[in-house]
Amino acid sequence: MSEISFLDSVNRNFDRAASFTKIPKGILEMIKACNAVYEIQFPVRIGSEVHVIKAFRAQHSHHRLPTKGGIRYSKMVNKDEVEALAALMTYKCAIVDVPFGGAKGGVAINPWQYTEEQLEKITRRYTTELIRKNFIGPGIDVPAPDYGTGSREMAWILDTYVTFKGGEIDAAGCVTGKPVSQNGISGRTEATGRGVFYGLRELCETPDAMAKVGLTTGLKNKKVVIQGLGNVGQHTGLIMQKEGGIKVIGVAEYEGSIYKEDGIDIESLIEFRKSNNNSILGFPGSTTLSDRMAALELECDILIPAALENQITIDNAHKLKCKIIGEAANGPITAESEEILASKGILVVPDMYLNAGGVTVSYFEWLKNLSHMRFGRMEKRFDSNAYQRLVATVEDLSGKKISDTERAVLTHGADEVDLVRSGLEETMVNSFQQIWKVYSTRPEVQTLRNAAFIVALEKISNDYANLGIFP
Ligand code: GLU
Repeated sequence: MSEISFLDSVNRNFDRAASFTKIPKGILEMIKACNAVYEIQFPVRIGSEVHVIKAFRAQHSHHRLPTKGGIRYSKMVNKDEVEALAALMTYKCAIVDVPFGGAKGGVAINPWQYTEEQLEKITRRYTTELIRKNFIGPGIDVPAPDYGTGSREMAWILDTYVTFKGGEIDAAGCVTGKPVSQNGISGRTEATGRGVFYGLRELCETPDAMAKVGLTTGLKNKKVVIQGLGNVGQHTGLIMQKEGGIKVIGVAEYEGSIYKEDGIDIESLIEFRKSNNNSILGFPGSTTLSDRMAALELECDILIPAALENQITIDNAHKLKCKIIGEAANGPITAESEEILASKGILVVPDMYLNAGGVTVSYFEWLKNLSHMRFGRMEKRFDSNAYQRLVATVEDLSGKKISDTERAVLTHGADEVDLVRSGLEETMVNSFQQIWKVYSTRPEVQTLRNAAFIVALEKISNDYANLGIFP
């Protein structure tokens, strides 16, 4: 495989889409450029050795502040990768109307090689470096989880930040994806997966889209293959199975891939993997495929790459037998292989829209932190009381009583998690409609990725105009 780099791939997609807009060249150049990258190497004592650790934070666009994006722990982290991912964050935030610029951080370590204590040390040191350079803060740059990190790391980041910035009233908003007990928000962990579900549900409920790929409308019983059982892959599978009625026929993970015609129950597979030395191989009733990439080539309706970038390349794109690809991961398809997919009539739902559920709920978490109050606290009881009065009136008028279970459902006032899910669903549905409108009314645009880019670029260029930078 001799393909261009991840960043070049993102920029090539950008150029392709930009050619369909009337945005002046200067503004496009300004949007495309990465504003700032902090690259650092710091020593951390691990046992009797000193490890010199390389880390980055890229802030792609300052057109809106704070900048926002996850922190990745992976051996593959490099400057090109964080810049590409930060750029994707800018476009993603614009598409879902989250008022942030894009950023991304990375620490070039294999997190599974370190103990919890060592990871804490590395995370705290990295955070200290960010504080020192003014690369973190609720109004500056707000990290979040990404590949290899989770709520635990976010709690360490917050604690380090608070230690240095005691007395900053909005300090809790310096990072999102925190544990709910430590200023986090309910529903953040599942948010990216839930967003993927809402996005694919919208697509499958669009008759023109389904006619294009020769499928019936609705998610129910669609055959799905998932690559990656990390946070995003797990929740995507669980929610799509439970709420969408899909059938997962194949799963790919690091150790290999499996196939099961009558469907893999994701919950059981997750349990099985835990008890099976972290391996999905040998899951009851499944067939083990030749290697970990083989599941991607299974005949299915929807393929969901939920792992890392550059998984679908010019080497395997022509072998795919799916109708739709839902990019739950960032950058799983290289720019060069996308042409092959288009010629095969595969509809690609792009990352910058489909996996935006994570940052959307991060935005809600940040708002919660700035408001210093949990969502639903003011209205929950008021709403519930109003529904109870309504039910009582209907019962009086009809002379009939409803069951306690029905009453509980009808008179429920929204909890934080209900509001988070409602806000996320609204966001994903709304953004889908914006993208679909461009795609369906401008045939020359050809792909949903181009359409998504166009939506993003128009909003960002408007922001620049509003800032008075350009007419
Ligand atoms: N890492 C996630 C992403 O790639 C979430 C970013 C965030 O919540 O800021 O979108």
